[in-house]
Amino acid sequence: MSKAIVVREAGGPEMMSWEEVSVPAPAAGEARIRHLSIGLNYIDTYFRTGLYPAPLPLTPGMEACGIIEELGEGVTGFSVGDRVAYADRPIGAYSEIRNMTASSLIKIPDSINDETAAAMMLQGMTVEYLLQRTFHVKPGDTILFHAAAGGVGLLACQWAKHIGATVIGTAGSEEKAALARDHGCDHVINYRTEDFAKRVLEITDGEGVPVVYDGVGKDTFEGSLDSLQTRGLLVSYGNASGPVTDVNLGILSAKGSLYVTRPTLMDYNKSRTELEQSASDVIKMVESGAMKINIGQRYPMSEAVQAHIDLESRKTTGSTVFTL
Ligand code: NDP
Repeated sequence: MSKAIVVREAGGPEMMSWEEVSVPAPAAGEARIRHLSIGLNYIDTYFRTGLYPAPLPLTPGMEACGIIEELGEGVTGFSVGDRVAYADRPIGAYSEIRNMTASSLIKIPDSINDETAAAMMLQGMTVEYLLQRTFHVKPGDTILFHAAAGGVGLLACQWAKHIGATVIGTAGSEEKAALARDHGCDHVINYRTEDFAKRVLEITDGEGVPVVYDGVGKDTFEGSLDSLQTRGLLVSYGNASGPVTDVNLGILSAKGSLYVTRPTLMDYNKSRTELEQSASDVIKMVESGAMKINIGQRYPMSEAVQAHIDLESRKTTGSTVFTL
């Protein structure tokens, strides 16, 4: 027996409980992982609330670092004892031990510690595909990145700066604004007190930016469109304030022949080759020191309820890991 967070009914954070579970032997293509550190991501809340439907009971979590304890039939390229990390479905990372699809695993070099590995995979590979593949950010580009002091946000500020872009970020408090600035954000707008679209136009001499990265969703959607230059791209990649629904496409022509995409990491790392390339880019950024993984909070895995309360009430900064 081992322990895992179990959600029996979709709902608030209190629906999560730390329970004894039994883990079967790994099936063909799977590896049994003993977790060392587990990453918290906003997507975990969407599975818990049912915004992203999944069969119940469920164990949330898409990211962790751990040691391979046993291999299922047909798994090649990994050995028992390897230290690996992953950021993928199926969910189930909020656990001491789990079976995970071996083709989603990445071996972690000794230079990267367990917590960093657990925190960097999902948010790091997200930043990789957002900045390099959804829209290719080039030196000299000015971009707008929302929630710049969050998990994805702090990594994006550093990566975009490394590319040579000018980064405009938004943040929900002065403390968060200072943190974003420390991580490479050139201009930070407190979007609780300022009209961010108006500020973006001022900063860009009325032009707007070629790309907006928006993980906030509902509350920022219109302002994000208003921050774009003609034929600019809105990358709407998350729903922290709620999902964007019922959009009249006419708004895109009215605001300047705009583009919108709603990408997910899984579609950008669909093949093993894509996953390996993305993970390797993240590892290089971390090993070179160009991107520091700022772990703002740690919670025992058994205290997932408090972690979700803090994340959803905008109390966290940077990345968050669960300890075991
Ligand atoms: P964050 O650490 O960024 O936490 C979310 C932040 O969003 C908060 O700290 C807060 O920052 C901001 N926010 C603004 N409005 C609200 C609101 N009403 N309720 C809660 N938070 C709000 O989380 P992650 O780094 O884990 O994820 C960021 C976003 O990226 C999420 O939407 C997530 O779903 C998405 N994502 C998407 C992926 C994809 O491939 N599509 C992959 C990974 C993440 P502030 O107080 O500064 O406003």
